[in-house]
Amino acid sequence: MDDTVLKVAIAAYFHDIGKFAERAKIPLPQDYAERNESLYQPVYQGKYSHKHALFSAAVIEHIAGLLPAQFSKAGWGEGEVTDSFVNLAAKHHNPSTPLQHIITIADRVSSGLDREKADTGYSVREYRNVRLWPLFDRVDLSGKKADAERNESAFCYPLKPLSPDTLFPINASEADTGASNYAPLWDAFVADLEKVPHKKALQLWFEHFDSLYMRYTAHIPSATVETVPDISLYDHSRTTSALAAALYLYHRDTSSLNETAIRDYEPQKFLLVRGEFHGIQNFIFSEGGSTAKSLAKLLRGRSFAVSLLTELAADLICTEIGIPATACLLNAAGKFTLIAPNMPHAAAAIKKTEEACNEWLMRHYCGEASLGISYTAAACSDFTEKRYPSLMLKLIRAAEEQKCRKIDLNRHGGVMASFLDSFDNELGICRFCGKRPARKRIDNQEICGICDDHIYLGENLVRDKRIAVTAPDAGIEGGKLSEPIFGTYQIAFVSGNMHQEAQSGKLLRFWEVNSNTNNEAASIITVKALNGYVPVFTADDLYNEQLLSLLLCGDKSDQLKIELLEAIREGAPKTFHHLAKHALREQNGKYAGIEALGVLKADVDRLGQIFGKGLGKSQSISRTATMSRQMNNFFAVYLPSLLQRAYPDTYTLFAGGDDLFLIGPWRQMFDLAWRLREDFSRYVCGNGQITFSAGISLHKPGEPVHAIAETAETALQQSKDSGRNRVTMFGMTVKWDELRLLAQVKETLERWLESGLMNKAMLYRLNDLVEMAEQENRMLNAKQGVPLEDMECLKWRSRLKYSVIRTAAKNLKGEDRNDAVQKMLQSMEQWLSVYRGACRIPLWQIIYERR
Ligand SMILES: [Zn+2]
Repeated sequence: MDDTVLKVAIAAYFHDIGKFAERAKIPLPQDYAERNESLYQPVYQGKYSHKHALFSAAVIEHIAGLLPAQFSKAGWGEGEVTDSFVNLAAKHHNPSTPLQHIITIADRVSSGLDREKADTGYSVREYRNVRLWPLFDRVDLSGKKADAERNESAFCYPLKPLSPDTLFPINASEADTGASNYAPLWDAFVADLEKVPHKKALQLWFEHFDSLYMRYTAHIPSATVETVPDISLYDHSRTTSALAAALYLYHRDTSSLNETAIRDYEPQKFLLVRGEFHGIQNFIFSEGGSTAKSLAKLLRGRSFAVSLLTELAADLICTEIGIPATACLLNAAGKFTLIAPNMPHAAAAIKKTEEACNEWLMRHYCGEASLGISYTAAACSDFTEKRYPSLMLKLIRAAEEQKCRKIDLNRHGGVMASFLDSFDNELGICRFCGKRPARKRIDNQEICGICDDHIYLGENLVRDKRIAVTAPDAGIEGGKLSEPIFGTYQIAFVSGNMHQEAQSGKLLRFWEVNSNTNNEAASIITVKALNGYVPVFTADDLYNEQLLSLLLCGDKSDQLKIELLEAIREGAPKTFHHLAKHALREQNGKYAGIEALGVLKADVDRLGQIFGKGLGKSQSISRTATMSRQMNNFFAVYLPSLLQRAYPDTYTLFAGGDDLFLIGPWRQMFDLAWRLREDFSRYVCGNGQITFSAGISLHKPGEPVHAIAETAETALQQSKDSGRNRVTMFGMTVKWDELRLLAQVKETLERWLESGLMNKAMLYRLNDLVEMAEQENRMLNAKQGVPLEDMECLKWRSRLKYSVIRTAAKNLKGEDRNDAVQKMLQSMEQWLSVYRGACRIPLWQIIYERR
């Protein structure tokens, strides 16, 4: 990458660091201010304004010792760059050179150019007391509320470092808005900054810095006066940097690095690029032969491979274009968006990367997954509040058109032909994917290079190590992929700081992916919230008597029981058979219930509309970036910590963007679904327009994975088709509030069972009646006539009465019994006529728990 691009990108990133420093009241010596105010501050009504710019300069000099040496080097950059780094970063309100003008414009484009002023009454607040407002509470699909509520918010984010515990908005009335809260935040930031490694490998350092900056500034409002404080300093800094890098390349390559050209808002200077992986589900759930033993590892590895592919495809595009990885605004759940210069060479680089990635995917993933890239050109003026929504629409349309284009099979025919030749006659086909040629045998099972890689990833992900993305020839000892990703990126799990490899340029990226285990301490390298929570065996599990009797119970074969015992190794992921065992219910030393897995699949409803028109007129690229990141954080940062704390036997297949796919002991999944819905609602400030739908399905642990995926998807789809904001289980769809009421039904039934008021036989009879009540419901709602034989279902009331009077409360006598019978009858009749078939939900849970 051109040195100047990096210099412009980092300087743009630093442009508002003075806001943080000023609010933290770092000392600004009087003589420094006097010497420099005219340099950095513009004059407004006879006075110097925008003091934060002076602070940006002061703080860069103040912490110079903690920053890479290049920052204070005079000759840094290529061509005729004469700007010092500090001037480039801090003169955005008083620009005098072309590069400074570029950062000024990037700053303005990032916030939607002409910032609309909020009504009076807002700007008089003391800026240090202002807290970041959530965007979620203003989202309104009609667009009205979002515009009306620009002057007040009932919620805000706590001014604290980002962690699973501080992600949630709080009531504004309960927030600590003390002006002095900035100082400790700043001090912690500086203390961590000192530890960030790789100062001599500037790109690596910049990515580490970006992660650290996110931790400390994601809850700092960027602008606090005369605007709505809902854009974080982090997202504003990052989008400004991405825009500045693209702008610089555009003007450099069109030989127009002059003030007039830079300040012209009309030419289309940017490419907004969107990448998306297609076929992810097919790829993750593809089936082969006997894979049960390693299934959990394999699936986790495949899912992580998808994250790697998406991260690294975006990275490859940035590298080919010559822009820093921070040009990618968001990368989650198989999709990414980045900002590039609108130059023929950039478009060519995008096309070349797309083709190279797809060729690699065709060769190694048999075309199961493919990468689609689309882009749209944009001018500075397209980022104004007025025009930004149609720019986003254009980008979405371009992505949809791309989806419809088929992969050119003729082009890849050659690849497939050589693929067929690559089978080894003796080893044959891989037993794990059933598709690729096997390369070797492990435990007597033939395996291909890619499946071997996925198991390697799945196994090592749980080991709490760092991920080094290196050049294929980096020569790192220990395990590595047999097929480096896109032929370019080798992956190694390492501990230590990799100083040597960084210095030699072989270390391309350096990631901490276990965000869930690092709640408190800041990571000093690049954080990627890619690793969902996976349950593993602990040292305590090794000789745990309770676990032993749990695994030995039941009528499974001895062979399987032995396998379950042998799988217990400290740090190894629990297998799906183990998770199913945890669904059993212990009673007096005996285990009851069915050994099954529960699969929970869920995603946010109407996501496109939420981002498309949810914020009404107040849209900007920084706002989109802020809200996308916040949405992703619920699934990628909060969820893993919740599982670790409260549902430790739940396995994450994937979670990020706006969706999740979890597998756990079936009994826990109902509670987990409810908990997630409650937490999500709190996360979006109780906004009834941002909801999510879920589906839960039950499976035996040996079931084929594609069947599991299909059933779970059908359940989720049923919730969507029934009107969204619902959950489907046992084939019945209910609204979330009903689920809570049905949980009360379950409690009542359990109480009756335990007190002897009801016997097990009655449970099964009730089940028949539930089906009749459901059939009656369908009949009442049917438009056409009903066959006579179906009328039988109308008798459920009389049959209920008959069987309750005959069998209920037999442990009581006389009046007591009469009272109890009447009460039970009344309750059950009410449940059946209100909830109908949905009574299955509590009933089947009880039956399965006691079977
Ligand atoms: Zn395979």
